[in-house]
Amino acid sequence: MSASIAVNEARLWKSLMDMGQVGALPNGGCCRTALSAADKAGRDLFVRWCREAGCKIAFDLVGNIYATRPGRDPARAPVATGSHLDTQPHAGKFDGIYGVLAGLEVVRALNDAGIETDAPIDVVVWTNEEGVRFGPPLAGSSAYAGTVDVGKIHSAITLDGTTVRQDLEATGYLGDESPGARRFDCFVEAHIEQGPILEAEGKTIGVVTRVQGLRWLKVTVTGMDGHAGTTPMDRRRDALLASAEMVVAINRIARETDHWARLTNGRFEVEPNSGATIPGRVTFICDLRHPEHVAIDAIDAELQEAMRGIAQRQGLGIEIERVMEKPPVRFAGEIVDAIRATANRLGYSNMDMLSGAGHDAMNVARVAPTGMIFVPCKDGLSHNEAESAEPGHLAAGAHTLLEMLVARARTT
Ligand SMILES: [Zn+2]
Repeated sequence: MSASIAVNEARLWKSLMDMGQVGALPNGGCCRTALSAADKAGRDLFVRWCREAGCKIAFDLVGNIYATRPGRDPARAPVATGSHLDTQPHAGKFDGIYGVLAGLEVVRALNDAGIETDAPIDVVVWTNEEGVRFGPPLAGSSAYAGTVDVGKIHSAITLDGTTVRQDLEATGYLGDESPGARRFDCFVEAHIEQGPILEAEGKTIGVVTRVQGLRWLKVTVTGMDGHAGTTPMDRRRDALLASAEMVVAINRIARETDHWARLTNGRFEVEPNSGATIPGRVTFICDLRHPEHVAIDAIDAELQEAMRGIAQRQGLGIEIERVMEKPPVRFAGEIVDAIRATANRLGYSNMDMLSGAGHDAMNVARVAPTGMIFVPCKDGLSHNEAESAEPGHLAAGAHTLLEMLVARARTT
């Protein structure tokens, strides 16, 4: 067993704070939506830091950045880490950024210690994780995993009316490497938890074993418009009333299923949405999540039965359409075990956990052995300017990442 290599907690924290100045907002957060001027400035800063740390920089066709710390054996597939630098409109300084800068801290710490690994180490910035300025979200990692076409990403229109290809050219991040051409030995993404569990349990490291699956159902309930004053209560076909009953019924089903099930109803469209007309038509989304695919299918069937029953009893039409599906992901056992063993060896309290949110690592897991390291964030708060984390926790996550990657990069 080798002695552990130190990460520099103050340097990691300063990098996070410096990056937080790029696209800074008045309440302490930042806004760097993908391929905006602020995102370009953040990328430029990261690239400069990586070059100063001796990395070679490459971009691919969708603007994913690969900063490579060369290894002794250039034929070996890179051991990779990273996350995203783009943000939500009212973001904090840590979501995504931490995973990228923890990767940079790994490189800097190896430089300080004068260690050369056998395999190269890549720090990756995935383009447009958040999907705010254009879609799809997780664009860069989806292209890398081959689930979304480069052409589809290039032709996407941004909120500013430009195409993504135009923005890639304008920002200087249109590379010529085909996404996915570069194969990784493994990929490990460090991230703040964005939830309250680690803080509540008093643990420093979350060993992420899986990411829950997500399904969206679009429900359309059709009744009949009618006069609010003249239509007796027993002669109405009120699509909103039926939808409200559906929401209550299906939330009860989700709550009674098990403690993993998550159901959210949103994006209601009520027609004609007038104060004096009985609503004749309502559409809404059911966002259903669970770590097990069979459970999603089972809950879906129950929800549909309940909603169809309510519609039928009230003489209403109903259509239910599946509009999005993200299957659950189970991370590679060898990577999960290595992260847990490393945290234990370094003496960091840890627990296995599930990721409730989607991450780039979900996509990379399709094509390379992949895992994630979570660290606590204050009050579980994320996608909020007040997002915060303890410097010591962030350093512990980076330290676990460093030791885990180095072990991997040395093994032949
Ligand atoms: Zn993120």
